Amino acid sequence: MIRISRTPLPPATLTSMADHTDDVAHAAVPGKRARELWRHTTVRKQVIPVLRTALADMAPGLERCMYCGDNQGTDIDHFEPVRVNPLRTFDWTNHLLACSLCNSHLKRDLFPLARDGTPLLVDPSSEDPARHLHLSLAAGVYLDLTDRGAATIEVFHLNRSILVRGRLRAYRITRPLLSRWRDAVERGDTADAAGWANAIWEQPTADVVHAMFHQAAAPGAEDIFADQTETLTLLRDPVIRGALLRVG
Ligand SMILES: [Zn+2]
Repeated sequence: MIRISRTPLPPATLTSMADHTDDVAHAAVPGKRARELWRHTTVRKQVIPVLRTALADMAPGLERCMYCGDNQGTDIDHFEPVRVNPLRTFDWTNHLLACSLCNSHLKRDLFPLARDGTPLLVDPSSEDPARHLHLSLAAGVYLDLTDRGAATIEVFHLNRSILVRGRLRAYRITRPLLSRWRDAVERGDTADAAGWANAIWEQPTADVVHAMFHQAAAPGAEDIFADQTETLTLLRDPVIRGALLRVG
């Protein structure tokens, strides 16, 4: 899971969503009204396509799920579920792109809270998940740094075996891809370099690439990349970081 930057929506869409929120707030049964409106033809034709396009632009790689990073994001997820808070059904800051497995089968209406009532799940659009989750590159698994990290791993099954295998594969493949990108830059072949940059970032589980850059610059990097001196040099190269982190 990686940090997502939220883009602004067109003012007309925001106005329309504010009107819908007002409608929900004044309904006799807000949850029922919120679900009706979300499925309404006008919303499906005028609001949801705008949300979907914006979320696809924000999503990592090729429109990947913002939770698992592996599958295509097919669903608009209400981070705080409609059942829990219908007033956030049309709140743009409550929308994330998720795959149907993460959204409909794993998270569903789950929204665990800490004892003080604050949400336990990590919203990657409002904070950096790296504060709560550490990706072990060698093992391909997420380790929890906080209770919130633990809840997020549990709800989304972030260490399910297919994700672990995908991360290990991405870790292995990214190392030679970085070398190819560097070779293309040194040859002055910008088109080829752009092709390798896309190959790096458009992989599923792009969280591996983010973790590689993040961990290469953090204390303990020599231990993490102990048998990969060349990769560590590439990941710390200011030219590579300046170009590839901007692309990603
Ligand atoms: Zn997913």
